Amino acid sequence: MNRLTVKNVLDWLNEIAPFETAESYDNVGLLVGSVHAPADRILVALDVTPDVLDEAERLDAQLIVTHHPLMFRGTKRILEDDYEGQLISRMIRKNISMIAAHTNLDQSPLYSGSAVLAQKLGLQNMRQEGFMFVGDLTDGPMRADALCKRIADCEGDFIYQYGADDAMITTLGISGGAYDEGFEQARAMGAQAYLTGEVRHHNALSACGTGFVLYQGGHFGTEGILVPALAGALQNALNALQYDVVVYPSRCRPYGGRRAL
Ligand SMILES: [Zn+2]
Repeated sequence: MNRLTVKNVLDWLNEIAPFETAESYDNVGLLVGSVHAPADRILVALDVTPDVLDEAERLDAQLIVTHHPLMFRGTKRILEDDYEGQLISRMIRKNISMIAAHTNLDQSPLYSGSAVLAQKLGLQNMRQEGFMFVGDLTDGPMRADALCKRIADCEGDFIYQYGADDAMITTLGISGGAYDEGFEQARAMGAQAYLTGEVRHHNALSACGTGFVLYQGGHFGTEGILVPALAGALQNALNALQYDVVVYPSRCRPYGGRRAL
């Protein structure tokens, strides 16, 4: 039996979400480590954080696959004295490789946070333009406040609704992460409401002022949901190829502290 390497995981990711489709400003692919390094134990996470590195060390993982990259903005030095430098140095010291699949994964009809959320919400007649996923509610039309509750149950977290409780929704747009300006695109694709991770005041005003509804599901809330889906798919693909590999979905929640419910 062949031993799995980081290269094999890169190849699989490139099949499901080609790296060349990432935005030009992005930083994706192998960011730390080596393509030749073994990868018998793989951890999938939304971000590399100190907690995720603790988890990787506990599991003896040699590879971390994340959604968000490090060195996003033209890093010129890696210092132990800053947050990101510490994370990178620690991975190098521990022989841990890191792959990021970011805006390429955001466009995946199966494994982007938006696609996984749409699936969990049971949306039908899905259509996609780039990062935007729009679908119809199975049992719509539905009041905006009832849909808010459904989304919160699905994410398992608090979410915020901007717009009238009694607005009737039949079609929902979803684009996870930080993409509140996408609400115009969601509306143009037929949605009456739009779920994204982060909503800025000016976009909330212009959406609500024109009868549209915005849901702020949190950046982690709308994208963390992809972690178990991606880890499960990678595990299945490697099992089918008869590699003796374990893929773990990270159980870390970011930020720590309390959350409102
Ligand atoms: Zn994101």
